[in-house]
Amino acid sequence: MTTDSAAQHTPASAEFLPGPVLLLGAPGVGKGTQAQLLMAAFGIPQISTGDLLREHVENRSQLGIRAKTLMDSGQLVPDEIVNGMVADRLTRGDTLPGYILDGFPRTEGQAEWLDAKLPDLHNAPPLVAIKLHVATEELLRRITGRRTCPTCKRIYNMYTHPPAITGICDFDGTPLQHRSDDTEEAFYRRMAEYDTKTAPVIEHYRAQSCFREVDGVGSLDQVEHRIIVALRDLRAHVPLQLAPVSH
Ligand code: ADP
Repeated sequence: MTTDSAAQHTPASAEFLPGPVLLLGAPGVGKGTQAQLLMAAFGIPQISTGDLLREHVENRSQLGIRAKTLMDSGQLVPDEIVNGMVADRLTRGDTLPGYILDGFPRTEGQAEWLDAKLPDLHNAPPLVAIKLHVATEELLRRITGRRTCPTCKRIYNMYTHPPAITGICDFDGTPLQHRSDDTEEAFYRRMAEYDTKTAPVIEHYRAQSCFREVDGVGSLDQVEHRIIVALRDLRAHVPLQLAPVSH
């Protein structure tokens, strides 16, 4: 474990910390966009398994070469690969005050692995889970319109959230990219994976008091506000215990 302190990563104005948060929901529902907003609001890191995998693909690592074909066709990457990446990331000290897990767990195997892993991590405050909901027709429109900045990872949408100059990131001027799995064909495969493999994971969390479902339709600010209200409410019931655990 590193010696990073919670205070180091927390904006001075933040009087509320959500702790570890799972952001769940279908492809294109806005998990990545909202995770970026929450990261800025609370000063806790976003851990996106999709982004971690895409970095491996870009670097042409062994793992990336194995993952690329599956990702491009809309299939899930095997649990042992994804769990290993998450394990690695969660040992970093910046996760101490909390983190937003975006797109993980996505299978029952990943959820079981995470449940078993959590007690070993830092002082292991209990998770809360937010599921975003958007109707399928809107998801397809969002996916085909999505463009991302390969430099800063900001997410745009040609229809709903375009950059000021078409095809260029507002923040750093990099040409935006269209993800190779953001096609109509891959979308339906991703939705099928979601329905069969991820829906049971969502039911697992829904059955617990740590879960809220949030309407993902509206402006980015409106959805962010709904998530923050849900997080505050959840933490009133599932408080953070950031004091060191005594053995
Ligand atoms: P989205 O949530 O829009 O589907 P992501 O960027 O989260 O997009 O994921 C893109 C692809 O990366 C997925 O279709 C899948 O192939 C792979 N992937 C991401 N997270 C996981 C995971 N937890 N388990 C298995 N595969 C994953």
